[in-house]
Amino acid sequence: MDIRTGFGYDIHQLEEKKDSFVLLAQVIVLGDLHIVAHSDGDVVLHSLSNAILSGLGKEDIGYYFPDNKDETKNMSSLDILSFALNEMKKEGYHLSNVVVDILLQQPKLKPYREEIKKNLSQYLNIDISRIGLAANTGEHVDAVGTSKAVVVYSQVLLMKD
Ligand SMILES: [Zn+2]
Repeated sequence: MDIRTGFGYDIHQLEEKKDSFVLLAQVIVLGDLHIVAHSDGDVVLHSLSNAILSGLGKEDIGYYFPDNKDETKNMSSLDILSFALNEMKKEGYHLSNVVVDILLQQPKLKPYREEIKKNLSQYLNIDISRIGLAANTGEHVDAVGTSKAVVVYSQVLLMKD
């Protein structure tokens, strides 16, 4: 049996901005923080794309979508994820399950959990029961804890078709 694990990470800087939002798996999380990014800054989709590509032994998303090029300016992170999923299909793998851990000090993600999982289920084309979602704060220390950054770790299991 050919199975592979993939691990992904992404971090984005946060800026204080009144009545703004943070985009997590394309879910608009309202608050007074705004993600600093060249693309739409969907840190969840970036981390997951990195995880899928790493499982395939490929480069990370910064290699395929450099953040200093006009072509990638304001691009939808769904296009980045589609690229990673397409590479996976080309190599003859599918996703067994994914685990995502979001590290954000505030706002609380509880009201958004179901919507985030639902979107991931749709984008990744896997059952919602195959998506593990954890949300942690930074316990008021470090860049996450002082709301200067949002970090997402993710892990995927790829299985040969
Ligand atoms: Zn990113």
